[in-house]
This record gives sequence, C-alpha cells and structure tokens, in this order.
Amino acid sequence: MSAASVPVSLHDLTRAELGALFARWEFSPVHVARLWRYLYWECVASLAEMPELPAKVRRRLADETRLHTPGIALETDSSDGFTRKYLLRLEDHERIETVLMRYTGRVTACISSQVGCAMGCVFCATGQMGYTRHLTPGEIVAQAVHVQRVLRAQGQRLRNIVLMGMGEPLHNYDAVMQAMEILRDPNGLALGAERITLSTVGVVPGILRLAREKRPLRLAVSLHAATQPERAALVPAAKKWPLDELMAACRTYSETTGRRIFYEWTLIEGKNDRPGDARAVGRLLQGLPAQVNLIPLNPTAGFAGAPTRTEASHRFQRILAEEFKIPSTVRQRRGIDIAAGCGQLAVAEKN
Ligand code: SAH
Ligand code: SF4
Repeated sequence: MSAASVPVSLHDLTRAELGALFARWEFSPVHVARLWRYLYWECVASLAEMPELPAKVRRRLADETRLHTPGIALETDSSDGFTRKYLLRLEDHERIETVLMRYTGRVTACISSQVGCAMGCVFCATGQMGYTRHLTPGEIVAQAVHVQRVLRAQGQRLRNIVLMGMGEPLHNYDAVMQAMEILRDPNGLALGAERITLSTVGVVPGILRLAREKRPLRLAVSLHAATQPERAALVPAAKKWPLDELMAACRTYSETTGRRIFYEWTLIEGKNDRPGDARAVGRLLQGLPAQVNLIPLNPTAGFAGAPTRTEASHRFQRILAEEFKIPSTVRQRRGIDIAAGCGQLAVAEKN
C-alpha cells in the first residue's frame, strides 16, 4: 500500500486540522468538538462508540479516515505495584513500550517516539535493538490516550508525560512536536508545558530548534559522562555531536528560553559514579541552570556494567550539592523488574 492510499489517522490531526477537514466536508464545527471529546476525553476506541455524531459524519469518517487503538501484546506490573508496563502492538505489528507510573501521587506516562533507536547507547536495551522506524504523530498520541483510558476507568487523569520510552525524540522531531500539540490541546488531554518532559541523547540541531521555536516543554539531556572520550564510549552519537557543541547548545537553549535543563546521568559502578566523575560534571554544569537526574544503571543483556551502589549515588549527590550547589535526584529503582527495555522511566516526574 502506498502512503498516499492510507487514510489519515484521526490521532494524527490537531483540532484545527480536523476543523479544516470538517469544513471541507461541509460539516458543522459542532461535530468537531464532539469528535474531539470522544477522542481525548472519553478516549473511545471506535466510531461505533460515538453515538452523538450523526450517521453521515461517522460514515464519512469511516470512509476517509482511520482510528486505530494499539492492542496490548503484553502487560506487566512491577512487584511494588507502582509501575505498569504495556507492550503495545501497532498496525504493522511492530511493538513499542508505554509505561504508566504512579510515584508520589503523580501519574505519568512514559512514551516512545520510535520503534527501536538509531543512537546505539551501549547500556540501553532499545539501543541494542537498533532502529526500525519512526512513530507517526498518531502512534505517539495513541500511547497517551491508552494510558488515559486506563486511568479514566479508575476515576483518575493523566497529568504528566515523559518522552523517555523507546527511541530518540529529536530524531523524529516533526512527528513528536505534532503529537505534543495534540496532547496539549486545552479541550483534550490538556497537558501543560511543565508536564511534558522530552529527553534527548544530545541531538544538537534538535536542541537549537527547540530553543528557536520556544517549544513549551521541559528538556532533559542525557549526559552520562563529562569528557568527550568517556561520553563517546557510552553514547556513540557523541561522535557526531561532541560534548563542547552539546554544552554550547544547552547554554543557548537555557538563555533563549529561560529554562533550566535536566541532565541525566546513568550511574555505572566504577565507570562514572566516582567522586572525580561528580566533580567533573559539577565543573561542566557550573553556571548553567541545571538539575542532575541520577539513574542507577538497569542491567541489560548487551552490556556488562553493573549498577552503582546506593552509597556511591549518595556521595555523588553530596558532592554536586556541597561543592557545586547543583540540585540532583536519584531515581529509585522501583519497578526495575519490569523496566528493562524502556528508556528507563521517571527521572522527571519526581521533580
Ligand atoms: N533517547 C532519549 C530518551 C529515551 S532514554 C535519551 O537517550 O535521552 C531515557 C533515559 O534512560 C536516558 O537518559 C537513557 O540514557 C536512560 N537509559 C537507557 N537505558 C538505560 C539503562 N539500561 N539503565 C539506566 N538508564 C538507562
Ligand atoms: Fe536511543 Fe536513548 Fe537508548 Fe540512547 S539511551 S539508544 S538515545 S533510546
């Protein structure tokens, strides 16, 4: 099937785009509002569940658009019950991970931006998988809708999104931004700028574009090492976007947007969790509006490193706080039993 012959997915469209479509079809804007409510308030899975839409509208939608709800290939709870991970099946049967997290009373969805990832970080399960394809805006949106549907049945609402699932969101910039616009719509899921966190491996042109376009979201940058050779050994993408260029882009981002950046640091025992490493990152970030999110390594099959010990992560935090006045958090290793494979969960939702 050629791309042109595939009808547009309803989850691909902003409310304004749906409005334009309905105007072209000469349907009343009232129906757009109703459809939007069904899609993002009631989170229904099919046109059959939209009785308030006239039959002729539903017929047209059935003929010229599609509404796909990803099936659940697998779902698992963490042993502590705080995290539920879904393996969702897309229309072409590719699988992606979406995670629902409930820590400290906040409900967060960790969503994917690609099937696999091209960046090849050595410790990451998704990186070890390689790249298959970008997700469409609708496939990104559908993950949040899936989580909201689950929550709605329990009388709750999705409050936060972290783009920390599979994939590199700035490698799929346009689709991710279109999806975020849909998720921010005040008549839909209404996720505010402070409630969407995008995590990047350090795609420099993407960071500069976010700054230029003043995209309303929180930015997290995966650092993991404070020198170019050490970073390039963990994050091959650093060869393309070296550390000095990355830090210059981060500075521009913070200056242009007035926002601080969250710097992620996956702690690997004996590799980047020593006092010297903490001081190196402290020096690197000094003077920048920064918070460090420390993530103890989640062991994966393709990487021999071990997670840091609790004492080492606390020592790391102490050095950042006392010697550099840089705030940091350590992600608790809750839910670790089901976390492998996802881009590793909530660093941002605790902040
Ligand atoms: N591609 C983006 C977002 C997805 S990964 C990025 O790299 O930032 C989200 C976070 O999880 C990143 O900071 C990533 O380095 C981290 N991560 C990936 N695999 C991990 C693992 N096995 N253990 C701990 N953190 C991991
Ligand atoms: Fe891709 Fe992020 Fe995993 Fe690196 S850590 S391979 S960028 S998903």
